[in-house]
Amino acid sequence: MQFDHILIRFGEMALKGKNRKHFERQLLENVQYRLKHFKKVIVKKTRGRMYVLLNGEDPHKVMEACQQVFGIYSLSFAIHTENDLESLKEAVLSAVSVEENAKTFKISAKRADKSFPLNSKELNPALGGHILKNKDEMSVDVHHPDVELKVEIRHEGAYVTSKDYRGAGGLPIGSTGKSMIMLSGGIDSPVAGYLTMKRGVEIEAVHFHSPPYTSERAKQKVLDLTRELSKYGKRIKVHIVPFTEIQQKIHRDLPDSYGMTIMRRMMLRITERIAKREGALAITTGESLGQVASQTMESMNTINEVTNYPVIRPLATMDKLEIIDIAEKINTYDISIRPYEDCCTIFVPKEPKTKPNREKTVAIEQSVDFSEDIEKALASIETVQIDGENSSEEKGSFSELF
Ligand code: ATP
Ligand code: MG
Repeated sequence: MQFDHILIRFGEMALKGKNRKHFERQLLENVQYRLKHFKKVIVKKTRGRMYVLLNGEDPHKVMEACQQVFGIYSLSFAIHTENDLESLKEAVLSAVSVEENAKTFKISAKRADKSFPLNSKELNPALGGHILKNKDEMSVDVHHPDVELKVEIRHEGAYVTSKDYRGAGGLPIGSTGKSMIMLSGGIDSPVAGYLTMKRGVEIEAVHFHSPPYTSERAKQKVLDLTRELSKYGKRIKVHIVPFTEIQQKIHRDLPDSYGMTIMRRMMLRITERIAKREGALAITTGESLGQVASQTMESMNTINEVTNYPVIRPLATMDKLEIIDIAEKINTYDISIRPYEDCCTIFVPKEPKTKPNREKTVAIEQSVDFSEDIEKALASIETVQIDGENSSEEKGSFSELF
């Protein structure tokens, strides 16, 4: 007998009272989507659980894919059997045999189907005895077993599971709304995107691109980063905003020291407009307090003034090393450190204001009219759909989408 199922347990979402049905439905959809290339698997939902019937697909590959789905707390390989003692004995023996280095075990049986003739107390020794009889080298340890075999007798049959694997945690993507992630190509913003998705948020990305100062390869980097992020969810739209003219105008017509602050304000304004059109209720950035000139408390305060959308900053209180750890874990680090310039590094003034003042910034900004430039940038957005599983890139202009 072999493991023929993967058992999926939900964590936190099981606690979410009335929303529970909605969360579970979303998780089912997300698991099905993530496993769509495993043509033979069937995903089933029962109360508070999900089972993936492997149907001959590679158990480890399916496990790995499920481990990337947010909203899953833990997973185990499982054997499904008939509700009869002989089948159960065979199943526990197979399950324990897979754990090659295990010397001690424990059986924890639960009888949800009370029509089964043995109760849990009787089942434990009956099944444990079968293992002891067939495996000389193994003994029982009820306190610290190398492997704990869980046996659950349900109406639809019994499940035997062994080790628990960790799930990605969080909440199912799509269950808590949509946010626009401002994606730069650096190390931080993809991590911010990942952490936002982890809380059940669907994301779309906005990238400000300044050709010819920034190359096609810088743009490709952002698409590659998005592809990594999309492996945790569904397709992600990337809105590429032509930003050269606005940057040139800021550089030409405004005092150098306020250039960076005003450029950020323009980015945020445009992102809010895209968010509105796409039905996103928040904006996410990769800002981390005190990291660079644009991320002092004064800068954040002054930049943030242009929007009253919630700005989610998952990295606000993290150190660079903590951020890098996550970037490595989610495979974005190597892409982020590719050496192409982004639009901000090129126009960075020699001495940017690290403590800009709101009122002064507004006064300076108002001396030049940017409204037409903003409309023009919005009208020329290129939107690309990224699907981590397919590597397909469907292009379309922004206007086509509305
Ligand atoms: P990152 O590593 O994400 O680039 P950073 O430490 O370089 O961040 P900044 O350059 O100050 O910090 O950018 C702060 C945030 O502003 C970024 O995390 C990102 O969310 C947003 N941002 C910066 N540049 C761009 C861009 N070209 N397009 C879209 N968003 C951007
Ligand atoms: Mg950056």
